Amino acid sequence: MDIFKLISPAVRCSYCGKGTYDDSCLCESCQEDLEKLKRIALIEGTIVRGHILYEYNGIVKDLIIKYKYNQHRYLGKYFAMLMYDFIKDIPVDFDVIIPVPSHWKRKFERGFNQTEIIAKELSNLTGITYNNKILKRTDNSKALKNLNREEREKELENSFMAICKKPYKTALLIDDIYTTGTTINHCGIALYEIGFDQIVFLSISGNY
Ligand SMILES: [Zn+2]
Repeated sequence: MDIFKLISPAVRCSYCGKGTYDDSCLCESCQEDLEKLKRIALIEGTIVRGHILYEYNGIVKDLIIKYKYNQHRYLGKYFAMLMYDFIKDIPVDFDVIIPVPSHWKRKFERGFNQTEIIAKELSNLTGITYNNKILKRTDNSKALKNLNREEREKELENSFMAICKKPYKTALLIDDIYTTGTTINHCGIALYEIGFDQIVFLSISGNY
């Protein structure tokens, strides 16, 4: 079955607004533009290796911004479809799908964690358990008091904590935009510390 036929009906293309003839998020010409940004890069991080599906540019960038800041939540499902289309060929049995947690403040401002929605939809598609309780951002607002803005941002990127009572060993870590890899690596450190032995990340987009 065509993966794009599974998503909820949309009369207008999410990018250009043109009418679409099937139930895809994007019209045919925008789907072609999306294809052009496909990179599927394997990133050999220092701690965690994984894959970035698209270059963070053009239509991909626009869709992610719409998704994150304009409450276009249905796009989360679309991104999950794109991920599913890719990972169904990865020969790893993942125990759990974990979203990279956003800082509580950002989640509060936006009302939702964009990565959680993608991870949850991906869990529905793959049948792999979803868990957003294992990995947390630590609340270190007090420790941040004396740092300048740049140091504070860095500190926020680095503060993750993991707790898991289940015997999970392999995790698929979901992110939307991969930048320097700092966040992913710190998530990896936290997960390896509690006994995970294989972690693969998957990000919709990235600058690399
Ligand atoms: Zn279009």
